[in-house]
Amino acid sequence: MKITSLIRVRRNVAVTMVAFICVFFAASLLQAQQAESSKGELRAGVAKVDITPKKPVRMAGYGGRKGLSQGMHDPLSARVVVFENKGKKLVLVSTDLIGFYGGTAEHLRKVILEKFELEPSELFLTAIHTHAGPSLTIDKEKGHPNNLAYTDSLKAKLIEVIREAVNNMSPVQVSTGVGHCPVGANRRELRITTEGESSIILGRNPYGPTDKEVLVMKVAKSNGDVIAAMFDYATHATCLGGRNYTISGDVLGLAEQFVEKILGEDVIAPAFAGASGNIDPHFRVLPAFNNEPGWIPEPVLLGTLLGEEVVHVFRDIKSLRTGREINTAFTMLELPSKPKGESAAKQDLPPTPLALTVARVGKVGFVGIGCEVLTEIGMAIKAASPFEHTFVITHCNGAAGYLAPEHLHVEGGYEIRSSPFAPPAADILVKQAVKMLHDL
Ligand SMILES: [Zn+2]
Repeated sequence: MKITSLIRVRRNVAVTMVAFICVFFAASLLQAQQAESSKGELRAGVAKVDITPKKPVRMAGYGGRKGLSQGMHDPLSARVVVFENKGKKLVLVSTDLIGFYGGTAEHLRKVILEKFELEPSELFLTAIHTHAGPSLTIDKEKGHPNNLAYTDSLKAKLIEVIREAVNNMSPVQVSTGVGHCPVGANRRELRITTEGESSIILGRNPYGPTDKEVLVMKVAKSNGDVIAAMFDYATHATCLGGRNYTISGDVLGLAEQFVEKILGEDVIAPAFAGASGNIDPHFRVLPAFNNEPGWIPEPVLLGTLLGEEVVHVFRDIKSLRTGREINTAFTMLELPSKPKGESAAKQDLPPTPLALTVARVGKVGFVGIGCEVLTEIGMAIKAASPFEHTFVITHCNGAAGYLAPEHLHVEGGYEIRSSPFAPPAADILVKQAVKMLHDL
């Protein structure tokens, strides 16, 4: 064999070997990818839609307000984050509304669950509890025509915004962080009359428990582009008070808007109302109701303060991970009842139903409660949760009213009187929520 032929053969052998090695590595890479996708990657999509009423509407949250809304202070939105892993979904919907009263939770959920073929546990339909927004109604007899039309248009918009989020899903990484914020204040203030009688009024109680945790979840695509900064904070969105007629997301809505302004328009910042039945914003509007500059200071001040902390926590979240596992569960609890307007329980009342939804995305837990629980209940669930961080989300999938811990029933006060739940209800809820979290 000539030397040139020998070189050619050797070259051929070398080329074949290189080709073989390349094929081998490509095959192992494919195998690794297949193994990875059999575990399923975590995917997510987000979307946001404007839900500001176009016409004047009846407003929700204060009995004394009779007229229709007059103009807008800041816009209302619905924000959606959809997570998906191996066909299992978690659809988180945050709306700048008071809540889903008068059967509207069931009505809207039914439509959404059917449209997107979801399990009842895969949908968290939630509201930030702003008292400066429209009331929802499907009651054709008693509902105002503008509110009926608004609720109908909301239904269409929710479907549209969820579809958009589902359609733009891509692989994501997530992580959470916590901070603290003084915006919320315990409102159960003790007053002693000159006759020595004690009563609990809606005021400010600096000694009362207040969950000040700001829990933030960062969601980013695999290339690092952030798509969502979700946050959970326990306060009523009631800075504007009962004499306000302008539409606003109030403190939580303004915090969302602030975060989105700072982080840019590609990021949505859905808020979730934590356990805040007895928590009000630290300031409400001044008696003079000063809105000459075109904005009202109190909700802007407190919304900005909360938004600042969300951004601060968000920027501190450095490493993201693929928390791929999604699991969800739903139950309709049957809790012991008491007559509304009274403090004591009575025998033989039928139980009061309460929607309870739990979910996990990797190491993060979610508890959605279909009523307005007092802050102690949310803190108890968080403390006993087996997850690294737990979103406690109220006004979720239902609107059953106030639910207070047992020991506060002797004190009385607004939340106790107006609650449909008997004293033992809170313990049953906490135990059930924690058990369901453990079972996920
Ligand atoms: Zn409330």
